[in-house]
Amino acid sequence: MADRLTPPAGGSAIDYERAFRVRSPDRPVIPYIEGDGIGPDIWAAARRVFDAAVAAAYGGRREVQWFEVFAGEKAIARYGAGMYLPDETLAAIRDWRVAIKGPLTTPVGGGFRSLNVTLRQELDLYCCIRPCRWYEGTPSPVRHPEKVDVVIFRENTEDVYAGIEWKEGTPEQGKVLAFLNGEMGTRIPADSGIGIKPISERNTKRLVAAAIQYALDKGRRSVTIVHKGNIMKYTEGAFREWGYEVAAEKFPGHTITEAHLSQGDRQLDPGERVVIKDRIADAMFQQILLRPDEYDVIALPNLNGDYLSDAVAAQVGGLGMAPGGNIGDTAAVFEATHGTAPKYAGLDKVNPGSLILSGAAMFEYIGWDDAKSAIQRGMESAIRDKIVTYDLARQMDGATEVSCSAFAEAIVQRL
Ligand code: NAP
Repeated sequence: MADRLTPPAGGSAIDYERAFRVRSPDRPVIPYIEGDGIGPDIWAAARRVFDAAVAAAYGGRREVQWFEVFAGEKAIARYGAGMYLPDETLAAIRDWRVAIKGPLTTPVGGGFRSLNVTLRQELDLYCCIRPCRWYEGTPSPVRHPEKVDVVIFRENTEDVYAGIEWKEGTPEQGKVLAFLNGEMGTRIPADSGIGIKPISERNTKRLVAAAIQYALDKGRRSVTIVHKGNIMKYTEGAFREWGYEVAAEKFPGHTITEAHLSQGDRQLDPGERVVIKDRIADAMFQQILLRPDEYDVIALPNLNGDYLSDAVAAQVGGLGMAPGGNIGDTAAVFEATHGTAPKYAGLDKVNPGSLILSGAAMFEYIGWDDAKSAIQRGMESAIRDKIVTYDLARQMDGATEVSCSAFAEAIVQRL
C-alpha cells in the first residue's frame, strides 16, 4: 500500500521511558482519529479547546502538531473496502506514541473485531484508565458527587474479554464439552455456550504495578484491588494475590497494606506510603456509592473494571463527561468513552465533554499539567454558569442549552 500519511513538519516524538513516565518536547506530533458518527463534531470542538488551553497555559512556547490518521468509516473512504484499521494508522501511533481518538463504529458481522479492542491488543495497551471526578454544577444522581475523585485502572487485555468462547451446538463446543465433562469431571449441560476467563500473573502484576506507580507519582493515598475472588478463586482471587505480591516486590517501603495498619483498636498512620487494600466487587459497588471518599486509585480485572467505570461515571454526570485512556509501556491512546451516537451525527448537538476531558488526561500524561488545569477550569466554569449541551441541560434547572461547538467556545472563554 502506498504511504498516504504525511506527518506535520516541525514536530517531534514524545520520549517514552515506560508507561506513565514520558517526556514531551515542546512541539509533539500527536496523531488523532476523528471517529465516526458524532466524532467529527466532538473532535472539532475538542481541538478548539486543546489549542486554546495550550496557548493560554504556555503562551506560544508549546504547541501540539496534530496529525490526522484514519480508522473506521473515514479509513474505508480513503483506503477502500474492509480497511477499517490500516497498518499505517497503527504504525503512526507506534511511532508517535501518544494519540487521541473519537468513537468508532463497531462493524457488525463479517468477522470484524471491535476496532477499539483491536487497537488495544495490537498496541498492547494494557491499562484502561478512567479518571472520575465531579465538576461543580454537573447534574448527578447522588447527594455528594464532590466526594468522588478516583482513577480506575482496568486490565485491558484478558479476562472474559479475551474473546475465547464457543457457540452451543458447534463441533468446537462439542470438543471442549467432551474434554471438560469427560476428562475434567465437570457437569456442564450439553446445550451450553462456553467461554474461557484467563487471568495471568504477568498481566495482573503489570496492571497493578502501573496503578501503584501512578498513585506514588500523583500523591494519591491508596490503591484498592477489586475482585470476585471469593467465588472465582484462581482467576479473580489470583488477581488479588498477585496485586499484593507486586506491591511487596516492586514497592517495598512505598506501600503498606490496610491489614498492617489496623492494630486492634488502633489505626497506624501510613505516612507517605500508599495503602494497598482490596474489596470484593459486589461490596465495592455499594462502597463507591456510600463512601466514595475512601477510594482513590482502583485496580480491577477487565469485566468488573468495565462495569465499575460506567457506574462511577454515572455518579459524576454520565458518560458524556467521562474521560478515558488506554495505556501501554510504549504507546497510549486517549478516547471518548461513549459511542458514535449516529442519530446525532453532524447536528453539532452532543456533549464534547468526554473527549475534551480525555485530552486533559492526555496533557497530564505528557506532563503538561497547566494545560490540563486550564481545561478543567474552563469546563467547570462553563457548567457552573449553566451553559451546557442538551444532555446536561435536560437535567438542570435554568440552564442555557447550547450546541457542541458553542459549549467548546464557552469553555475557551473561561480558560
Ligand atoms: P452511544 O453511541 O454511546 O450512544 C448512546 C446514547 O448515549 C446516545 O443516544 C445519547 O443518549 C448518549 N450519548 C452518547 N454520546 C453522547 C454525547 N457525546 N453527548 C451526549 N449524549 C451522548 O452508544 P450506542 O448507540 O450503543 O453505540 C453506537 C455505536 O458506537 C456502535 O457502533 C458501538 O459499537 C459504538 N461504540 C464505540 C465506542 C468507542 O469507540 N469507544 C464505545 C461504545 C460504542 P440520548 O439519545 O439519550 O441523548
